[in-house]
Amino acid sequence: MSYATKMIKVKCDGAVHEFPAQTSAGKVIKKVYGKKSGAVAALVNNEEKDLSYLLSENCDINLIKDDSDEGLYIMRHSCAHLLAQAVTKLFPEAKPTIGPPVKDGFYYDFYMDPINENDLNKIEKLMRKIVKQNIPIQREEHDNETLREMFSNNLFKSEIMDDKIGEDVGSSAYRQGEFVDLCRGPHVESTSKLRWFKLTNTSQAFWRGDSSRETLVRIYGMCYSSKEDLQTRETLLREAAKRDHRKLGKDLQLFHIDEMVGQGLILWTPRGTIVRNELQQFISEHLTRQGYQQIHTPHIGKLDLYKTSGHFPYYQDSQYPPIVKRDTLRRLSDEECSCSDLTNLMSEGDIDGYMLKPMNCPHHIRVYASQPRSYRDLPLRLAEFGTVYRWEQSGEISGMTRVRGFTQDDAHLFVTEDQIEQELLGCIELVKIIFGTLGMENYRVRIGLRDPNSDKYVGSPDKWNKAEDACRNATASLGVEFSEEPGEAAFYGPKIDFVVNDVLGREWQLGTVQVDYNLPERFNLSYTGSDGNKHQPVMIHRAPFGSMERFCGVLIEHFNGMFPTWLSPTQVHILTISEKHKNYARKNCSNPARISNTCRNGHWR
Ligand SMILES: [Zn+2]
Ligand SMILES: [Zn+2]
Repeated sequence: MSYATKMIKVKCDGAVHEFPAQTSAGKVIKKVYGKKSGAVAALVNNEEKDLSYLLSENCDINLIKDDSDEGLYIMRHSCAHLLAQAVTKLFPEAKPTIGPPVKDGFYYDFYMDPINENDLNKIEKLMRKIVKQNIPIQREEHDNETLREMFSNNLFKSEIMDDKIGEDVGSSAYRQGEFVDLCRGPHVESTSKLRWFKLTNTSQAFWRGDSSRETLVRIYGMCYSSKEDLQTRETLLREAAKRDHRKLGKDLQLFHIDEMVGQGLILWTPRGTIVRNELQQFISEHLTRQGYQQIHTPHIGKLDLYKTSGHFPYYQDSQYPPIVKRDTLRRLSDEECSCSDLTNLMSEGDIDGYMLKPMNCPHHIRVYASQPRSYRDLPLRLAEFGTVYRWEQSGEISGMTRVRGFTQDDAHLFVTEDQIEQELLGCIELVKIIFGTLGMENYRVRIGLRDPNSDKYVGSPDKWNKAEDACRNATASLGVEFSEEPGEAAFYGPKIDFVVNDVLGREWQLGTVQVDYNLPERFNLSYTGSDGNKHQPVMIHRAPFGSMERFCGVLIEHFNGMFPTWLSPTQVHILTISEKHKNYARKNCSNPARISNTCRNGHWR
């Protein structure tokens, strides 16, 4: 029997069909589902393949539809290639680097000179032209040598090859017209399948996310499978732009960011401070009810403190550089010590200094350790609206939601193992009250658990099982949807995250509750048990708002700037009928006291 007449059995849509070998997956799908199947790719024996993939053996085929998550992912990935094709045509010097699909769309990073709005329009126009030309998107297999040759003028692609495929192995590339990209695929069959897209914006990015490497131009776009979906998304983005807290916050004079003060550092104006104070007071009432004690700690701490906690040098890149003592600095300068020498000396512990605190935990731990503790003191709940500083990349700073200095509604609970569940319940109750009061009913909860195949976790498996169960039980008591996510726990303990959907359907990670076995160990904390022996407490970190800055930013957008009365900076405004009554009105509201009686659910007490 000649090869051409070999028949294969293809299981598709619940039935077995016979086809000659070398029939394409797309042809099978067309035959079984008809022309309008909406397939963008195929699942052949559970592997994603192009529709042009030729079948040589018996197999199972399922279609990947354009409106499924997988289908959209493929379309968005194809759209990224389309973008790169247009960019390299218009800017022949531009070097494409990576271009992945993301939620709602795609982006591609190019090594090129910055572009403007006008360029963006030009690129989009050319993309539409390429779509109309219906150019086939074809997979090619090449050996390593050929691939290296093909991409020899693009150092970024060469670097990707070094990392991903090594020296000897070949790989695939995808070609559409004159554009070819190193890629695993799969992709849609031709450019005409990509009609519902739009370029949205550009930003700066770094090769490999590393600020010491090349600066790149990132171009973002969105892409959907239908006109309706794209329009819905555009409407949503327009609405989001109107509600943008950066715009509203300015119009309503809630906060100010000043170049002279520094990027990512929020200045709370008098009106914004009213909102913040009301929120703090609101939560403080519940803290008191739940038996928390409030404390204050300084904004800096000795480097040694953070060496013990492990925040230094491990998280150095996300912190402001340390503050070195004046005489040390003078000595180092006399010795002509360079910046990198200084960093090394610090990591090695040869010189001491101070750090802006990136976390409140170490300070709170030292309050715990300031006196001998017995089981009668536990649970000890220490709360602080504590300001911390982190070094966000300048490209990532945005309004109040990504900042370099922020105040957490932080607390640390020092508990016995048996108290974990009860205390988690209290933490969760707090989050529930906050979300309920502010009308943020649409949220989900994620429980981050251990990855069962990893051994990076501190604490015995026994302890972990108990803590994970405590997280599950406490969360279940909330009565909201929650998901368990293995592998998402921190190495030091399981956690519960609250993800809020705002009115526009966007997700924000706000509050978090985290169990910690590591810091009590690192700081050698203890308490005397009822048995008279020393035991180690467990810590719970929790911040229901997360950060005051971020939370307020989200609230401004959530309420579209129209805060409920109890939060509103202007609660009552008195207008006089005529000039005559002005003095009387002024006399009676010269001290615009807050209407302290407003109940937080909007009614009067
Ligand atoms: Zn690709
Ligand atoms: Zn903490």
